[in-house]
Amino acid sequence: MSGDAPVQPRDGLRELTGYHSPQLDVAVRLNTNESPYPPPPGFVSAWLDALGGVPLNRYPDRAARDLRTALARHLGQPVERLFCANGSNEVLQTLLLTYGGAGRRAAVFEPTYALHSHIARITGTEVVVGERREDFTIDPSAAAQLVEDAQPSVVFACSPNNPTGTVEPSATIEALLGATAGLVVVDEAYGEFAGDTAMSLVGDDGRLVVARTYSKVWSMAALRLGFCVAPPAVVEELEKVVLPYHLAVPTQLAGLLALRFGGEMEARVELLVRERGRLVEALGAFESLTVYPSGANFVLVRVAGDAHGLWERLVERGVLVRDFSSWPRLEGCLRVTVGTSDENDAFVAALRGALQEVAA
Ligand SMILES: *Cc1c(COP(=O)(O)O)cnc(C)c1O
Repeated sequence: MSGDAPVQPRDGLRELTGYHSPQLDVAVRLNTNESPYPPPPGFVSAWLDALGGVPLNRYPDRAARDLRTALARHLGQPVERLFCANGSNEVLQTLLLTYGGAGRRAAVFEPTYALHSHIARITGTEVVVGERREDFTIDPSAAAQLVEDAQPSVVFACSPNNPTGTVEPSATIEALLGATAGLVVVDEAYGEFAGDTAMSLVGDDGRLVVARTYSKVWSMAALRLGFCVAPPAVVEELEKVVLPYHLAVPTQLAGLLALRFGGEMEARVELLVRERGRLVEALGAFESLTVYPSGANFVLVRVAGDAHGLWERLVERGVLVRDFSSWPRLEGCLRVTVGTSDENDAFVAALRGALQEVAA
């Protein structure tokens, strides 16, 4: 394929495969962990009104001061600890551009969010892989050993972990912090669904960074806004590395105005947590499924039998979930995003039909 291309990309990039999460046009899409609810209408009109008054010939505030100040207040953190970017993926990329790179290593614990190792490789950072336990938790002492041996500059933990839903106890994060001389980055893209956070462990002189996103919890995946809470010295370095004016005015305004609708956003989170409970209970009734505990807005199941065949039968019934069955360490696994109660009912009904068909 690329052998015919006139110019080759840098060594180390050729063997990368792009990030794909296939989209299909079906009625019930439960494959990308988006919120099934749009943001509150009041937010959308406040945002559109504010956009109307913006001088479009001027660059945005490079320091995103208003947004960072409001977020800091919302989180009970000093503003100097806030770094904002285009989705938390850009936060992760900026962290790796700053603290990773040639001759440096990043540690991940698989199976986990694929973009941690993917972005690491793109930035020339070597990836060191630790294994999770059978129940998908990180073994703190094995992890500490790996970190002591490999001396990574960045250690990733994801809590709740995507795609397994596993919530990591803070003792594990503290074990990682104790073992490494590098940064520990806790990706909390789903943190609000767990109610558990490592944010209180972030200190001005520490090495802990907590990354979050508006994409899932705040129903704003289209707007691309993420942030991290980090020691001020880290934030200063990130600001040097990230492109100037990377955060467009509509994004900054959206982040600022959404915070006024915190109550409505929290109600959505509570609704999804309740639906997750209902979904886990319904899934538990199927004998051929192993259901993993989840602190996120999705649930991972392991199927006894042909998981990809089951995924296809669900698609035939108009339901799209995420097929992880061909991924290492996730043999037989499918991940379903928590949708509206109607969508979850449709999924469970489709699953019942599909499993009966497989068994017949
Ligand atoms: C979705 C996701 C992200 C990235 O989200 P953005 O849309 O870039 O903010 C980061 N980490 C994890 C674990 C995710 O699942």
